[in-house]
Amino acid sequence: MPDPSGFLKHDRTLPARRPVPVRISDWREVYPSADEGLIRDQATRCMDCGIPFCHDGCPLGNRIPDWNDLVRTGNWATAIESLHATNNFPEFTGRLCPAPCEAACVLGINGGAPVTIKQVEVEIVNRAFDLDLVTPQEAPAPSGRSVAVVGSGPAGLAAAQQLVRAGHAVTVYERDDAIGGLLRYGIPDFKLEKEHIDRRLAQLTAEGVQFCTSVNVGVDVTAEQLRAEHDAVLLACGALAGRDTPATPGRSLRGVHQAMEHLVAANRAVASAAGGQPSVNGRESSTPMDAAGKHVVIIGGGDTAADCLGVAHRQGAAGVHQLDLYPRPPQERDEDRDPWPTWPWILREYPAHEEGGERVFAVAVQEFVDDGTGQVRAVRIAEVTVEKRGGQRIVTALPGSERELPADLVLLAIGFDGTEEQPLLDQLGVVRNRRGAIDADPDWQAGTPGVFVAGDMHRGASLIVWAIAEGRAAAAAIHRYLGGTSQLPAPVAPSAQPLAVPAR
Ligand SMILES: Cc1cc2nc3c(=O)[nH]c(=O)nc-3n(C[C@H](O)[C@H](O)[C@H](O)COP(=O)(O)OP(=O)(O)OC[C@H]3O[C@@H](n4cnc5c(N)ncnc54)[C@H](O)[C@@H]3O)c2cc1C
Ligand code: SF4
Repeated sequence: MPDPSGFLKHDRTLPARRPVPVRISDWREVYPSADEGLIRDQATRCMDCGIPFCHDGCPLGNRIPDWNDLVRTGNWATAIESLHATNNFPEFTGRLCPAPCEAACVLGINGGAPVTIKQVEVEIVNRAFDLDLVTPQEAPAPSGRSVAVVGSGPAGLAAAQQLVRAGHAVTVYERDDAIGGLLRYGIPDFKLEKEHIDRRLAQLTAEGVQFCTSVNVGVDVTAEQLRAEHDAVLLACGALAGRDTPATPGRSLRGVHQAMEHLVAANRAVASAAGGQPSVNGRESSTPMDAAGKHVVIIGGGDTAADCLGVAHRQGAAGVHQLDLYPRPPQERDEDRDPWPTWPWILREYPAHEEGGERVFAVAVQEFVDDGTGQVRAVRIAEVTVEKRGGQRIVTALPGSERELPADLVLLAIGFDGTEEQPLLDQLGVVRNRRGAIDADPDWQAGTPGVFVAGDMHRGASLIVWAIAEGRAAAAAIHRYLGGTSQLPAPVAPSAQPLAVPAR
């Protein structure tokens, strides 16, 4: 029986992060493992609500009150079973999810302090690995059917695991040289050390999933070949078409890059150093567009921008500005605009923001300024207001507000325009919609029988938790398509949306 007054006995507390000077001198994760007593006290704060709104916040429908109570009583083995029942990869969401479940927790009403759900989640899975509780689950019997999964991010991997456990032969094709999608070379090690991917892949491999890396489907193997070899195909290629700003004067200067060019190069350098391969100029993190000694300007306010900030500090940047088009959000939820339990528009302080740099709000870049040799030397910005009119975003610069910020390296982290145009889509006759995403029928098929779609490729750039949820749901649809009689869990429909206030 959960302790209904646990939240009165224990304040919300998170484990201490590693000190800034220590953590920016390496690439290890920001959070060390937490003390067991702290986590059990935090789990004790959960009231096991009659209507657990945390469930509604989580696209996976994680059984949060159940595993909170199991942690409270120290029953870690059953806690991981409960967690795995809805989530294939809690080690990813427990580290990286922005936790819409916490925004929806009943203890958060009226500015209260929600349960530290995400921290409890990651501690459960950490202990499960430490105690050898994460073991391969064999399928009862082979189905004789086979599935190709294109793309090895969290959507593709979640689908692969669900399908192989249902008895299907699953092959995951990935054009990169390593499995993991954005988790591998997009997200830096200080947020997710790559051993977490590798040890989960060991489980998937033991369960029978085949992995083919460095295979660009549509180029190295045609969609036709794939369809001839497999009974169904799942497209989980992500939403990796980086948004650009081609009309801004100076965009073609040296030193102005897409954020992902910078992040992928940095993450690859860390991976090479960890694998004992020589680095570019002797420094573990060095890349052709290293931030060392440079004035860096990051344009954008989301996850990608915060990751660039953390990387720039670890590479030894001289100074960093992070620019946001919108005004500084409030510290607290605005109940009129975003009432509980919806996801609130508030100032998001990532650990990278503790490490330095200056955030500048309500500004837009007017020009990337040339140093006379074709290399950027500054960014000219203006203060702006942003309005929505007739569905259009109108940005107005305030006259006389222009100024320059020094810049040797500029990183564009202004979002993604959906999935990339690539030969695979033409070969399958699949078309990108207005947002650059691929539409799915209610049964997750992409308009062509036997071809399914999930994750960012379907939803547009989103979150890991949605990618896993969509991968699981698409796997359930594929299993049905292949004649499977058992039912696999389908946490979301293709039309599912995050909790939001209905349009007024
Ligand atoms: C820098 C950055 C930081 C982020 N941080 C967070 C975070 O902290 N928390 C969070 O929840 N979300 C975060 N996200 C979002 C999250 O990473 C994505 O929502 C998630 O990875 C989407 O998963 P996916 O499986 O749909 O696609 P991806 O992870 O994008 O994987 C798609 C894979 O498909 C492969 N592929 C594409 N075409 C082909 C082809 N033709 N043949 C073979 N392979 C192909 C690609 O190489 C890629 O590996 C971040 C995103 C970025 C860019
Ligand atoms: S809403 Fe919060 S307090 Fe209630 S069951 Fe969920 S985690 Fe526990």
